[in-house]
Amino acid sequence: MRPSGTSAARAAAKPAAERGRVIDFTIGEFALGTSDLVTDAAIAAVKGGKTRYTDTIGLPELRLAIAEQFSRDTGQEWTADEVAVTAGAKPGLFYLTFILLDPGDEVIIPQPYWQTYPAQIRLGGALPVHIQHTADGQMDIGSISEAVTERTRAIIVNTPNNPTGVVYDESHLRAVAEIAIKHNLWIIFDQCYRSFVYPPYQHHHLVSLIPEVRERTIIIDSFSKTLAIAGWRVGYMLAPPNIIASVRALQSHITSCPNVISQYAVLEHLRSDDGQFHRWAMGQLEINREAGLGMLQRLRDVPRPHAQGGFYFYLDVRELLGRRHVARTIDTVDDLAAYLIQEAGTATVSGSAFGDKHGLRIFYGVSGEDLREGLPQLVAALNALR
Ligand code: PLP
Repeated sequence: MRPSGTSAARAAAKPAAERGRVIDFTIGEFALGTSDLVTDAAIAAVKGGKTRYTDTIGLPELRLAIAEQFSRDTGQEWTADEVAVTAGAKPGLFYLTFILLDPGDEVIIPQPYWQTYPAQIRLGGALPVHIQHTADGQMDIGSISEAVTERTRAIIVNTPNNPTGVVYDESHLRAVAEIAIKHNLWIIFDQCYRSFVYPPYQHHHLVSLIPEVRERTIIIDSFSKTLAIAGWRVGYMLAPPNIIASVRALQSHITSCPNVISQYAVLEHLRSDDGQFHRWAMGQLEINREAGLGMLQRLRDVPRPHAQGGFYFYLDVRELLGRRHVARTIDTVDDLAAYLIQEAGTATVSGSAFGDKHGLRIFYGVSGEDLREGLPQLVAALNALR
């Protein structure tokens, strides 16, 4: 097992970034602080003596508030016994490895993928089966269908997608749901980036499009990205009550409960937020996205990134591989990421962290200053390869 490639890239970039020598585009979290409402609620929880374990799968009032929010968002009724709060989305996903899979079972994952999916699946003794996305970044429905075997138990559907920045469209979601129903598979629907989608693209709740798929869908979601509190560790899962009961059993032996302070903070957010923080964050991201896309247009031989949702530009750099700069040959995307640190002073995440030999991920939720300084340097360095 290897540690997460994105974490490794972040760790490698951090010391140089702190010395001001490298602009860090490896980050995977919006870096401009969280809302006063959430901060104040956390402080109130600390001062109010909220020090104890909570219910294993979260405060009942928080689970209820999440269920109510989902009822509004999906147009269906959700109850608290279909909700488990976890210490970020990551452990929720990990529990599924033990709940849904036996050793030797297979899980279909569109590629490029967030590396944690196959790592967790392998830890449980099951097998990830990778299927390439189509050229426009949608799920390749034909290949998914062909990949189903007797051992297939689940398909991972991550939209908006990390790393590609694609938002899966309605027709592909409908098609993947049909496959799941036909072959009696679970869908693990990771929508952690759903709050960040740029018009005309639209995030679809799978269960709203195809209500029959709900009984076999596990929705993975998180406050990490939405509220910019990744370090506070609070995420959640919506699933049929028997799955939630299994999460309760597992989590009781693993983390006991999610962080109590974070739970009170997000509860206050769900009860009282007026959307101002999100509008502000989206405004910042939209400015950076527009500016960044403009700068990246100057790249030669690299297509425009999708950037439909989330906060990553994902570049297809295959045309640059094999090129040279002075005495240095760039054979792989790892070589390219290393070259960009040295020659452009910019840290990015190599596609190899996402099972992709041709990709490069650039986080654009950085400060406007960093974007205006770093991205032109990156573009110039890529254009200098011959
Ligand atoms: N899902 C995806 C696609 C992610 O990129 C991440 C984090 O980067 C997560 C889930 C997990 O987020 P957390 O555990 O912070 O809630």
